[in-house]
Amino acid sequence: MKLQKPKGTQDILPKEAAKWNYVENKARELFAQYHYGEIRTPMFEHYEVISRSVGDTSDIVTKEMYDFYDKGERHITLRPEGTAPVVRSYVENKLFAPEVQKPVKLFYMGSMFRYERPQAGRLREFHQIGVECFGSSNPATDVETIAMAWHLFESLGNKQVKLHLNTLGSSESRQAYRQALIDYLLPYKESLSKDSQRRLEENPLRVLDSKEKEDKIIVANAPSILDYLDEESANYFETVRQMLDSLGLPYEIDNRMVRGLDYYNHTIFEFITEVDGNELTICAGGRYDKLVDYFGGPETAGFGFGLGVERLLLVLDKLGIELPVEDSLDFYLVVLGNEVNGKALELVQAIRYQGFSAERDYLDRKLKAQFKSADSFNAKYILTLGENEVETNQATLKDNQTRAEVVVALDELMTNFAQVIEKLK
Ligand code: ATP
Ligand code: MG
Repeated sequence: MKLQKPKGTQDILPKEAAKWNYVENKARELFAQYHYGEIRTPMFEHYEVISRSVGDTSDIVTKEMYDFYDKGERHITLRPEGTAPVVRSYVENKLFAPEVQKPVKLFYMGSMFRYERPQAGRLREFHQIGVECFGSSNPATDVETIAMAWHLFESLGNKQVKLHLNTLGSSESRQAYRQALIDYLLPYKESLSKDSQRRLEENPLRVLDSKEKEDKIIVANAPSILDYLDEESANYFETVRQMLDSLGLPYEIDNRMVRGLDYYNHTIFEFITEVDGNELTICAGGRYDKLVDYFGGPETAGFGFGLGVERLLLVLDKLGIELPVEDSLDFYLVVLGNEVNGKALELVQAIRYQGFSAERDYLDRKLKAQFKSADSFNAKYILTLGENEVETNQATLKDNQTRAEVVVALDELMTNFAQVIEKLK
């Protein structure tokens, strides 16, 4: 039996978890400003919810699914991404019903599962923060959602994100492009990777997404989707670009980008940060106007993105950006002797009830060891409690940084800690 974590998973320990909380809280604050509400969907779904919507020929479905049959012989998969489950839920719960509430803006945070080869920034259980906006085919929605991701990166101190932008156009545009791509790729068929030879048959646009070197070389000279856009698609893309310009958001057109999921149309984008010479995609998304219909809902436009939390934190770390997470304690109680054990408990409880963080000694340690503890917890204020202090109802509160001291009544400490620490300032 292996008593270790499964390959590709991570324990998020308290120090690291503080950063996670910081990022998640920032995202929550920001999403509220953009009028998004939270949705929580199950960690597993019926296999079919994911397979057809994400794409039968996508890497996610063909290689990376954590699927199994449960005890009732149902084909289940751990969710590999957030959009299909949210759309499933949107339709199942008829969130499209109240017209006055459009657009419906939802965000989620949680684990995703993909059977991948683990490496830096690539795990088997990873976490995404994602958003979905339903019911607006206004290009301002595309741009607002992209800008929101940018806003989040900025608020976390990462200004080194590059926005890569492309369009997949309407299905008619894609049909025309598909044929052009097949015509271009067929003569190179033998030189393509095995996977891409299959992709060429099943879903030629997927070849553009290949990470194999031999494919990348061939794809470099492939025709561009931008030359096959119909008028409406070209206009839509042009408006998106103008709106990005008007917000002052720089971008690069990447006409080889197709994204790893099949449900997109029109605008698609990625946010990329370069670290150690590698380009890491931290956030990706786009428009999906056919997905709600696919799940049996009324035809409804959709736009969203998914952001990899591990990758975001990795990038911040590599860029030397420290999140302002402080590991500190307001109050440490040094406890002298078992006789005051009960009073010590009352005291720290009273302080916690006043909204401060408080810790104490539980181990009847020597004075010196207790002070060391207080230091290692970064305690701001320290008080020593012994029999004498309890008898006289007087004790000395010390500011552990300035070393300033003040003699206080225990009663006052227990009822008005805020006022007591004012005396130390
Ligand atoms: P890649 O091309 O890197 O495999 P993808 O196209 O499969 O990415 P998406 O499905 O668009 O990725 O997921 C959105 C984001 O989720 C990615 O940009 C990345 O930050 C994160 N992500 C995806 N897969 C993983 C993984 N296995 N481990 C950690 N983060 C991941
Ligand atoms: Mg992938």
